[in-house]
Amino acid sequence: MKEYFRHLNKINEQHPFIKKMKESAINNNIPIINDEGLSLIFQLIKITRANYFLEIGTAIAYTAINVALYDENIIVDTIERDKKMYLNALENIKQLSLNDRINIYNHDALDLDIKVLNKKYDIIFIDAAKAQYQKFFEKYESLLSDRGLFVCDNLLFHGLVESDEEIKSRSLRSLVNKIRNFNSWLANNKKYQTVFLNIGDGMAVSIKK
Ligand code: SAH
Ligand code: MG
Repeated sequence: MKEYFRHLNKINEQHPFIKKMKESAINNNIPIINDEGLSLIFQLIKITRANYFLEIGTAIAYTAINVALYDENIIVDTIERDKKMYLNALENIKQLSLNDRINIYNHDALDLDIKVLNKKYDIIFIDAAKAQYQKFFEKYESLLSDRGLFVCDNLLFHGLVESDEEIKSRSLRSLVNKIRNFNSWLANNKKYQTVFLNIGDGMAVSIKK
């Protein structure tokens, strides 16, 4: 995004704990959402009057906590497969006493029995293993409310997805191709209207047609 807009999209007043989480994520190379992406999510929460938010890929619960603090009526369900991340997230959630509104599941999102979630979500945020997005999308779409939105993150994958430069590493090339395939699958999905946005690391917002 243009530097000028990036600046305008900065979130000015953040909770001191959020600032600390952000610093720690940056220092430990944990890929949390950036301010622009978060501004978009806040806006979508307002537009949809979201009550239930599902996140696939919690990491340290940076987005989950931001969402819960943004709107005191929101319930966040979030899924994280990595035990260490899960424990870190749980600790952060406890520190802010948000246990009653953020439910974290230490599970692989592709194995979790969706019956345990037992609700319809206004926003489903996909931000986990980049090669599996179509699987996440197809598995969780039955939990999307009628006017609900899917938000997918990192669809540009550090700019590698849009570049036609040759990628040396085979595994990286394969990952980039999978993201490209997902992007065109999503763009051509007849059930959803999708907009791809040059925000953060590339985000898409999809709504049922
Ligand atoms: N949404 C977070 C950042 C998530 S980073 C934020 O913005 O703050 C991606 C996370 O997804 C990592 O912690 C990784 O362990 C987790 N993840 C990857 N694949 C997963 C899967 N299949 N199920 C659950 N979590 C997964
Ligand atoms: Mg992300």
